[in-house]
Amino acid sequence: MLTIEPVAAEGPIGATTRLTIDLAAIAANWRMLAGLAAPAIAGAAVKGDAYGLGAARVAPALYGSGCRHFFVAHVGEGIALRPHLPADAVIFVLHGIPAGTAGEFLAHGLTPVLNGLGDIAAWSRAGAIAHRRLPAALHVDTGMSRLGLSGAEVDRLCAEPDRLDGISLDLVISHLACADDPANPMTAAQRLRFLDICGRLPHTGRPFRRALANSAGIFWGTEYAFDLVRPGIALYGGNPVNGRLAPVRPVVRLEASILQVREIDPPETVGYGATHKVVRPTRVATVAVGYADGFLRAAGNRALALVDGREVPVLGRISMDLMTIDVTDVAPQSCRPGMYITLVGDVLTIDRVAATMDTVSYELLTRLGRRFERVYTGGAA
Ligand SMILES: *Cc1c(COP(=O)(O)O)cnc(C)c1O
Repeated sequence: MLTIEPVAAEGPIGATTRLTIDLAAIAANWRMLAGLAAPAIAGAAVKGDAYGLGAARVAPALYGSGCRHFFVAHVGEGIALRPHLPADAVIFVLHGIPAGTAGEFLAHGLTPVLNGLGDIAAWSRAGAIAHRRLPAALHVDTGMSRLGLSGAEVDRLCAEPDRLDGISLDLVISHLACADDPANPMTAAQRLRFLDICGRLPHTGRPFRRALANSAGIFWGTEYAFDLVRPGIALYGGNPVNGRLAPVRPVVRLEASILQVREIDPPETVGYGATHKVVRPTRVATVAVGYADGFLRAAGNRALALVDGREVPVLGRISMDLMTIDVTDVAPQSCRPGMYITLVGDVLTIDRVAATMDTVSYELLTRLGRRFERVYTGGAA
């Protein structure tokens, strides 16, 4: 059994901002999704450093809950993750095999996702040299037009199955383009294309497993789950399907301590461009979070902060390193310098905050900066 370290904090000296990542909530979200997808098994997308939350901490927590299939984007991410997971964890590298890196996959126990006939040829050659069939996944394009074998390449592979010599084809995947929209007919069409392709592809020994669903796809029902699902954003507290509230537990909390509080009167203004003109005597609290921390500039004059249980507006533009908050309606003893306010959390969910930035929770999470103190809780779950 894996030992998981207790609560630990890391980050720059003197950080006045704190990002708390609840590993127990990630594990609970994984179990919830695994339950929905059953009898399919659940893996986890931990690419992009586990959506910015730290794959070295997140992946072992998922492993502790029973997750054995992990998806990263780059081979370098796989190499970095391998030491944090036991040998029976399968790490799939979604981007395939960059030229000259087949040896890295073997040395680090990584499984490539083959995206084209070139990847297949490279892995087949590696298998010939190794004198065994090397495990691989295959990505087939069913409408995303981004990664994976095209229809013509699938036909070639079906006609020339010895292209898979030296390869143990363990998993076939495709990716849904519109699963976040419950009314979009493309999802059902992609499923049918996936079924057709999987029915025609050659086997290498035992039958391959099939994986289609991301987080949103899981909510389309078990006929979309196939053998393995690949949730990402829902693990990290994002609501995957538009207009439908998923039973996902919040994972991240972003708190900033107040640097200064000042009182200003009309006609004074706040911030760059003087975009906010106060209309009443106003108390302004300044905190050290800005767009350099991933709190996107689009949130200026739009985002909210939670101060002493009350939602209050951000005033003016977001600066590189600072933002300003209206604390006029908060009791002065609850917003003194050094006290923490919340910018993202249980109430100000990642979806709500991302909307104030004209973006999605994925972008909010992956941009969260490195200047925060990072606290991981719930690691023993
Ligand atoms: C990112 C990704 C996922 C996870 O998607 P979510 O929408 O975050 O659940 C699954 N599969 C592939 C191929 C991906 O690139």
